[in-house]
Amino acid sequence: MTYDCIVLGAGLAGTSVVWHLSRCAPDKRILILERENAAGTHASAQNAAMIRALVCEDELVPYATAGTHFWNHLPEELNWPGVFHKTGSMLLSSEESTLQLLERRVAAAVANGLSAEMWSPSRCRKVFPNLTQTPLLGAAYCADDGVADPQALIDGFLASARRRGVEYRRKTDVDTIHCENGRVAGVQLASGGLIQSKRVVLASGAWSPALMQKIGVADRGLRPHRRHLFVTGPAANLVKGLTKQTPIVWHVDLQVYLRWETGGLLFSACDEEPYPASRPEVDDDIDPFVEERVSRVFPFLLDLPLVNCWAGLRTFTPSHEFLLGEESEVPGLFYATGLGGHGVTCAAPAGGRVAREVLSDMQAKTPGSPEDPGCSCCSGAFL
Ligand SMILES: Cc1cc2nc3c(=O)[nH]c(=O)nc-3n(C[C@H](O)[C@H](O)[C@H](O)COP(=O)(O)OP(=O)(O)OC[C@H]3O[C@@H](n4cnc5c(N)ncnc54)[C@H](O)[C@@H]3O)c2cc1C
Repeated sequence: MTYDCIVLGAGLAGTSVVWHLSRCAPDKRILILERENAAGTHASAQNAAMIRALVCEDELVPYATAGTHFWNHLPEELNWPGVFHKTGSMLLSSEESTLQLLERRVAAAVANGLSAEMWSPSRCRKVFPNLTQTPLLGAAYCADDGVADPQALIDGFLASARRRGVEYRRKTDVDTIHCENGRVAGVQLASGGLIQSKRVVLASGAWSPALMQKIGVADRGLRPHRRHLFVTGPAANLVKGLTKQTPIVWHVDLQVYLRWETGGLLFSACDEEPYPASRPEVDDDIDPFVEERVSRVFPFLLDLPLVNCWAGLRTFTPSHEFLLGEESEVPGLFYATGLGGHGVTCAAPAGGRVAREVLSDMQAKTPGSPEDPGCSCCSGAFL
């Protein structure tokens, strides 16, 4: 059996790629392989699920903008009840230079059809009164941001793709990408079998660097980093006006964020530590770091009981640019990885970008086909 494309990893990145491919090339043989028993059990299940349009990194702006539009206008087949809850977000700043960057991001967001504006400290405190002790010069507010259900999106991507003929195999561990004469020829399974395909998409999250190393492509510095998330017990007594509609609050200079979560607050002190590809353990020694950071930004959090804590892996390059598209050293190898801390927001446009390149490669291999795959779903609509 030979496939037109094999996608490695059924997290947000991989399921997005197969969803796009299934829409634009339903006649092609597409296979997605996942090592675990179920799709989306690693980074895609460990995140804070926030959709955030205004990002600091220049290169990520088009993806975050397109991703936020995507969540606000989900295609019917993905638009399950509760999959996206629009709350808006406040990005707080205590530094003049950051405020200027946020102003530029707001202007770009508005030019691209999003609803965003700058807020004064008093406007922020009106909406979230507990900011009295927070160092604050101003904030960017984006009304189109909110909280998503990433698992529902993965399930939707996968179910829709399978309805259109994509094959999905779970509990299938890929040992290496198999090459012949310098081009991708398939994947070698850990169990010993070989599955043939001229195209492989690497969407393996934290495990992508090891698979890249095995076939000897240049090291792009892609590495997993651990981050902790905490959930408090009921917070309405201490946090004035807290409801499910309360915007996400993120201090971009002092690096702490919070949002509503089942009556309490989900928060992170944005810790970032290189960590091996695995299911990460909670660090028993994380408390002093978190307490120190939180006490400078949202000290009221320290008065709330914690009911949950977990860690997840964000995998990114040193520049935080996503690793997307064909590898120049190995024809047929495509990347859909390195989504860092933005994969929930950006998986749809990132997957669309990769699918477009895969489709171009398929078209080029089909004599007489048009040069451009002409896929409205994967091209202009998202990026
Ligand atoms: C703490 C934390 C908070 C975050 N908060 C946000 C947020 O608020 N908003 C946002 O937009 N993003 C957020 N993110 C980022 C987002 O979760 C990730 O960018 C996204 O989940 C990455 O998806 P992925 O598909 O690349 O990786 P994963 O979800 O890890 O998927 C990779 C898959 O590949 C499989 N795999 C690996 N190797 C193999 C192999 N050899 N064979 C077969 N299968 C294999 C794995 O089992 C896994 O299922 C956060 C991340 C973390 C950790």
